[in-house]
Amino acid sequence: MEETRNTCILLAAGKGQRLGGPVPKQYQLLSGKPLMAWSLTAFVKSPAISDIVLVIPEGDGDYVRESILTKIPGVAEKVRALVPGGAERYLSVGNGLSSITWPCDYVFVHDGARPMIQEETIERLLADAKTYGSAIAGVRSKDTVRITDEDGCGISTPDRRNVWIVQTPQVFRKDLLDRAYEKLREEPERAKSITDDGMVVETFAGVSVHMCEASYDNLKVTTPDDLAAAQVLLSHRH
Ligand code: C5P
Repeated sequence: MEETRNTCILLAAGKGQRLGGPVPKQYQLLSGKPLMAWSLTAFVKSPAISDIVLVIPEGDGDYVRESILTKIPGVAEKVRALVPGGAERYLSVGNGLSSITWPCDYVFVHDGARPMIQEETIERLLADAKTYGSAIAGVRSKDTVRITDEDGCGISTPDRRNVWIVQTPQVFRKDLLDRAYEKLREEPERAKSITDDGMVVETFAGVSVHMCEASYDNLKVTTPDDLAAAQVLLSHRH
């Protein structure tokens, strides 16, 4: 396969208030390591990734360098920028994207709150992105999904074989993601309900994105039960 240079934007600038706890979510310990260190380590180790941008809360640079980066071998060679996040997720991604000044063919965007990401998925996403221009990690819904109105009254029940639960990483050709984010900056009022970069590309570049089968254990840690589940899954993995 053609060699490309690929950057990962790792997002860790959210408030993570639904988890509770004494420190922000990205710094809480999961099996002895800060939550964001798990996914950062996966991308540092991955041969598919040449460069990493870390998006963190404004003012946390020294803390992240001292308590997280110094403990991960290989970080210095790959982490090229620490960038402050924005008030919304898409603003954090936009800040990360603007910081890429080095050659870059494909951009991975990953939630720092998804610690279970594995090298094999990263590789498969890159292969799919090279074919389709984009590759969005996800899993097919095991449950029936019902769309309702605001009162909870059913409107439709889609065929669940075509219903995906969307995850990250999400991978895009750099020029495609740049084009979408340029438009988003021109029309920010259209970004109100955006929750992932697949939506940014669909809405602002008018391009359909490609879903890529990932793994059911690639969960996002949002609430305390997610942290407990990730702990159990990691203990099985090791
Ligand atoms: O809020 P949500 O759980 O969707 O956040 C997903 C990821 O995006 C988390 O890793 C979080 O730290 C990050 N995020 C961010 N900036 C924001 C909001 C979320 O970097 N303003």
